[in-house]
Amino acid sequence: MQDAPEKNETADEDRVDLHSLSRGQLLALMEELGQPKFRAKQVEEWVWEKNAQSFDDMTNLPKALRATLAEHCTLGGTTEVARQVSEDGSRKYLLRFPDGVAVECVGMPSGPKLAVCVSSQAGCPMGCAFCATGASGFNRNLTTGEIYEQVMHVRDDFGSRVTSVVLMGQGEPFANYDAALDAMRKLNSPDGAGIGARHITVSTCGIIPMIKKFSREPEQFTLAVSLHSAVQRTRNILMPGVKKYSLIHLYEVMGEYVDKTGRRPTYEYALIKGVNDSDDELGALCDFCRDNLAHVNIIKLNDVKNSPFKPASDARAGEFVRALNQVGVEATIRNSRGADIDAACGQLRQNVLGR
Ligand code: SAH
Ligand code: SF4
Repeated sequence: MQDAPEKNETADEDRVDLHSLSRGQLLALMEELGQPKFRAKQVEEWVWEKNAQSFDDMTNLPKALRATLAEHCTLGGTTEVARQVSEDGSRKYLLRFPDGVAVECVGMPSGPKLAVCVSSQAGCPMGCAFCATGASGFNRNLTTGEIYEQVMHVRDDFGSRVTSVVLMGQGEPFANYDAALDAMRKLNSPDGAGIGARHITVSTCGIIPMIKKFSREPEQFTLAVSLHSAVQRTRNILMPGVKKYSLIHLYEVMGEYVDKTGRRPTYEYALIKGVNDSDDELGALCDFCRDNLAHVNIIKLNDVKNSPFKPASDARAGEFVRALNQVGVEATIRNSRGADIDAACGQLRQNVLGR
């Protein structure tokens, strides 16, 4: 239970998270507080660039303004509730937001580089059969600030610049399109994290209307599509949430995406023993990718508790890559990071929270 707010103090739920304000709203707030315009820029820098955790950190603001802001606003209030550190240096975090909802994000260092994987929703409504997040159901969409803050949490924990971000944690970013895109823009902006658009990747299970919309966005963000099978019957079983978007339609829309943007999408394909690793499946995958710009990522399936699905062998993954290469499609086996730290989508949350 929360303590009752003291007299004259604003209750937590009445305070506004500064991450939720647009520049215009922040300017209006400063005007209301009788502050000059440049204060809005200063506050923005503290919130987005510097990821300030307390109003006391905002040393270039007058003390009285800091006190007023502290009374009426919050800085999000994300707290770390668990972490796991892998032998390969990856760190996985479980972060909790003020309403108690918790999501995962991961930091993966590699030499001078730091890649971050973030969640876009708490849980996921798509229900993919092989996914720990899908199994735990849907809780709620994350806000722009909540998606953004995961990246900043990892940045500050490693104390180094983030060089790339993937929206491949929990949730389906295209089922929370506006907040996901807004967070990507903030991550890209020089007034935010300043990460190059090409180094920001959004992964979708294939929500066609949103892929169309995404192809019209001006930034050079990277798109990944979770394919997992190019055979309709198999894909319907693995990914029931996107049954209504047929593979033929997906193929057409991806062709349009390539024509419009000139960018090469990635297809993710988690190889599952006896399910999508047959020669027929391989043939269908080659046909789906061969005449279009495509990069295929063959992923080693992560074991999910109580799941009937098992990973195919490394040798089979190698065969998939070679066959794709032979028809002119670039393919790689995704280097599995943090396999020792419950790295599969949703597993830390499941292990800590039991759901
Ligand atoms: N919802 C989006 C993004 C998050 S999932 C999507 O589905 O694309 C990120 C990636 O992890 C997806 O390619 C997803 O299919 C994959 N994934 C989910 N569960 C997995 C598992 N058990 N093993 C390997 N990859 C998995
Ligand atoms: Fe959702 Fe992606 Fe998991 Fe499917 S794979 S349930 S879309 S998070």
